[in-house]
Amino acid sequence: MAAAHVPALLRTMPKAELHMHIEGSLEPELIFALAQRNGVTLPYASVEALRAAYAFTDLQSFLDIYYAGASVLLQEVDFYDMAMAYLARAAADHVVRTEIFFDPQTHTERGVPMATVIHGLSRACKDAEARWGISAVLILSFLRHLSEEAAFETLEAALPYREHFVGIGLDSSERGNPPEKFERVFARCKALGLHLVAHAGEEGPPAYVWGALNALQVERIDHGVQSEQDPELMRHLAATRMPLTVCPLSNQKLCVFPDLRDHNLPRLLAAGLNVTVNSDDPAYFGGYVNDNYLQLFAATGMGAVQAYQLARNSLEATFASPAQQAAWVQQLDDCVAQLAQAS
Ligand SMILES: [Zn+2]
Repeated sequence: MAAAHVPALLRTMPKAELHMHIEGSLEPELIFALAQRNGVTLPYASVEALRAAYAFTDLQSFLDIYYAGASVLLQEVDFYDMAMAYLARAAADHVVRTEIFFDPQTHTERGVPMATVIHGLSRACKDAEARWGISAVLILSFLRHLSEEAAFETLEAALPYREHFVGIGLDSSERGNPPEKFERVFARCKALGLHLVAHAGEEGPPAYVWGALNALQVERIDHGVQSEQDPELMRHLAATRMPLTVCPLSNQKLCVFPDLRDHNLPRLLAAGLNVTVNSDDPAYFGGYVNDNYLQLFAATGMGAVQAYQLARNSLEATFASPAQQAAWVQQLDDCVAQLAQAS
């Protein structure tokens, strides 16, 4: 396929998004609309002032603003509206499957009931599937800067709504909060039959990736880009085809790779790692999943072969059934064949 057709391939190929925090999809316009609806006063005078504050230096500087933005979410309809706005964008990007992270502790700590959060998000997933044909499921994530005891309490509060989420994740401030801190609660989640994923190796060392694999028994690593520092870990990840949900624009904005041309995704892919492309917190990091593909490919010069591999990796790293995955891969193959014919 000619290089000129790669952007069209990136835009239209069926793909899965496996690393997206729904609270990170709140656009400044929606934050202000929800603040008005709920009578919440924001520490920013305007949409423009809020957007201007999105100049981050590291993960923590982002998290401070992210939690302020989430403070406007109070009613079930707020969670529903937020998720529907994201799902419309994802469907437009030809995302056929999304496995959405949500952080209940960000809301329950403010007094919002667990049922409000989960019912609003879950209803959006069902409506989006009916409206746009996109498959959407939820992954409940624990905040790692809080205690394991708080994670256990969150799990217990969420279990009455067990049918509304498929897995458990671990996010928020990585440094100083190693995976081992959550070993017991993850073991409990595994016993409950939940899928397990965790952020590891974004800013933290390769030891945190090993910890997520060995202590938490995860099925995917979120980020994982620091694995490159450890050759043995790289060999292990390649041999086991462990999926890595990499987020290029997030890494750029949070200064993990300040210049996308230096991003190590092409090297991880070439080393045989099961890498995928995702948007993380699209409202804050300057783009949804197709923006991540387009900007990364423009910066690194990757081509159609890598585009296909990344899309295929994403579809096969979902928690959907093997038959459903195969159907999506067939859609991907059809899309590539159509574009190749046209070029
Ligand atoms: Zn993330």
